[in-house]
Amino acid sequence: MVGTPLPTPALVCQNQECGVELGCYVPGPDRKTWLQTGGLLIQSLHGVCAACGSAFHWSTTDLLFEELLKRIERNRRLLDTES
Ligand SMILES: [Zn+2]
Repeated sequence: MVGTPLPTPALVCQNQECGVELGCYVPGPDRKTWLQTGGLLIQSLHGVCAACGSAFHWSTTDLLFEELLKRIERNRRLLDTES
């Protein structure tokens, strides 16, 4: 990849043979996590990776849902260890 690496945590192409950095997570104007690519802050995005053509979908809602699922999984594991 050309240029300086993006700050982490970065979002990378899901194609494991590609793995190009597509953007990075930053706090948006509403303080939720948005995606930054170049000079844009993005709340939702549908496109393809410019390097390999893999379809790509991302939204702040998807990210919140992922975080919720992780939190549920963590709490479930805590309950398992207590019993
Ligand atoms: Zn790619």
